[in-house]
Amino acid sequence: VAPRVQLATTSCRSLNTYNHFVGGSQSTADSTSSSPPPSLREDAKPFTLAVKDNIATASLPTQCASHILSSHPSPFEATIVQQLRARGATVVGKTNMDEFGMGSHSINSVHGAVKNPLADDGDVSAGGSSGGSAVAVKLGDADIALGTDTGGSIRLPAAYTGTVGYKPSYGMISRFGVVPYANSLDTVGLLANDVKPIFDLIFSTGLYKEHDPNDPTSLQEATRKRCSESSSPRLPNLSQINIGIPIEYNISELEPSIRDAWIAAAAKLESLGAQLVPISLPSTKEALCAYYVLAPAEASSNLAKYDGVRYGIRGEGSDAVGETLYSEARGTGFGEEVKRRILLGTYSLSSEAMDNYFIQAQKVRRMVQKDFDRVFKLDNPLYEPEQFDLSDMAEATGMEDKRGPLQVDFILSPTAPTFPPRLDEVQGQSTVDAYMNDVFTVPASLAGLPAVSIPVKPAQVWLKIRNTESIALPVDVGSRESPK
Ligand code: GLN
Repeated sequence: VAPRVQLATTSCRSLNTYNHFVGGSQSTADSTSSSPPPSLREDAKPFTLAVKDNIATASLPTQCASHILSSHPSPFEATIVQQLRARGATVVGKTNMDEFGMGSHSINSVHGAVKNPLADDGDVSAGGSSGGSAVAVKLGDADIALGTDTGGSIRLPAAYTGTVGYKPSYGMISRFGVVPYANSLDTVGLLANDVKPIFDLIFSTGLYKEHDPNDPTSLQEATRKRCSESSSPRLPNLSQINIGIPIEYNISELEPSIRDAWIAAAAKLESLGAQLVPISLPSTKEALCAYYVLAPAEASSNLAKYDGVRYGIRGEGSDAVGETLYSEARGTGFGEEVKRRILLGTYSLSSEAMDNYFIQAQKVRRMVQKDFDRVFKLDNPLYEPEQFDLSDMAEATGMEDKRGPLQVDFILSPTAPTFPPRLDEVQGQSTVDAYMNDVFTVPASLAGLPAVSIPVKPAQVWLKIRNTESIALPVDVGSRESPK
């Protein structure tokens, strides 16, 4: 196991008590970078930025919280870091995470678990995999933090720490310089203590318009234009807005007080003039299973390059060739969860299992996309609707088609079904139970849709009432009073 590295910056007030920063030697990394610093834009405003450890920076190592990349300096900087530096960002540190983004609690890290500052003893999950980024903004160590979200990794830590976590549409923010986990799902997004700084960066500074020719999945100019034309970033007033409440999200595992908060949030929006519309997204039930087939399949392919030759560490048998070299590098370099995903993915892509797992999961993914298309007013700008004629899919799978007419502007749902669990509870959990935390976040990922997690109550309040029975919450979910 790599020794825990020191935080590279001295500007962080919380001194890494919550193990949210990882770092390295600023000077070594600087000298290896070939990325010139971007020139400041005229509208640049200074702000501090924490960067998840799977996003390449010029000045710090990029290790994905993995032993296999220990001390890996990136030869270039991610486009998004350059874009933010041009807008005034100063990078204050790299943040701890689940290794290669695989996990929901930021515990699968070579640096140890991230701790949630909302709990008195810190022994509560900060959510994952971008837990370090969420904690960095929560503690005020950074104004903005960059995270990645493949199936919920920005939104879940935001929910568990009481911060705002925004995952853009697939392809909107460049992934150039971001270490891939599952390419067809990976997105880069932002965390902050409030909506405004995120809104300002994305919309006011025009980040959403910038195509990156270095990222083949970056949305083309024409698609971006189509998006802007079909939607107005500044909505006139809530009375013209329909908000969908997906009935399938009211699952039995949902904690009663989270259900109450969901109802209270909906009631608040209704009192401000929005129309609430019950909607059905019937494929939601299958989305989690499909995600946990597709994401490991893509991961098993992506992680093949960490073989001790192209990337990765060399062990004692470094002079050996072939299998010994690979198995030593991968056996000692990857953590348990990453190995589990590689095995899962390799199996579901094998010729004996492909039809039953990978192909089925792709079909479910299309159904999830189609569910959203049926309820949203706007077309999904990421693809032409006629590309997917799946009207007979529900019939083919025997699933009931209960979807309503096209009518909704937004969908409102809880981000997670439970409060953040204690770290010892998580450690005792089965793998499948741990995957359950993502049940509400993966559908948007499978469909490539944008999503944002916003706290409805100071998170300390939630922590205090966890494990209690249903509590009738006052309907003041719009308030932003200080948690302290
Ligand atoms: N928890 C999910 C997983 O482990 C999502 C991770 C992510 O979004 N990077 O795959």
